[in-house]
Amino acid sequence: MRAVAQRRLVHRACAVCEWQGMAVETGNRARECPWCHAPTRIFNEEWLVPDPAAVKAQAAEFGRQGGLVGGRIRAQRLSAKRRAEIARQAAQARWRRNRKG
Ligand SMILES: [Zn+2]
Repeated sequence: MRAVAQRRLVHRACAVCEWQGMAVETGNRARECPWCHAPTRIFNEEWLVPDPAAVKAQAAEFGRQGGLVGGRIRAQRLSAKRRAEIARQAAQARWRRNRKG
């Protein structure tokens, strides 16, 4: 996968005066207020990525890292006996933790 430029649209507000503004930024450099030169804080930021297709591909890849099937499918695949076994282990684990703490 190709690298996506890490540009962000950052909304900032001054810590001292009424100034608010937004700008495209890269990196984590601190910015000062253009009015009073006090430090500013970020109150919102959005990642800017140049190519929507690249974003879509990236999102799809992240989604698949967790697997394509959910817990319900897994539960259906397991036998009732195996499910009971898992549930018993979970209950025992909880009990152990409660006894200790
Ligand atoms: Zn200011």
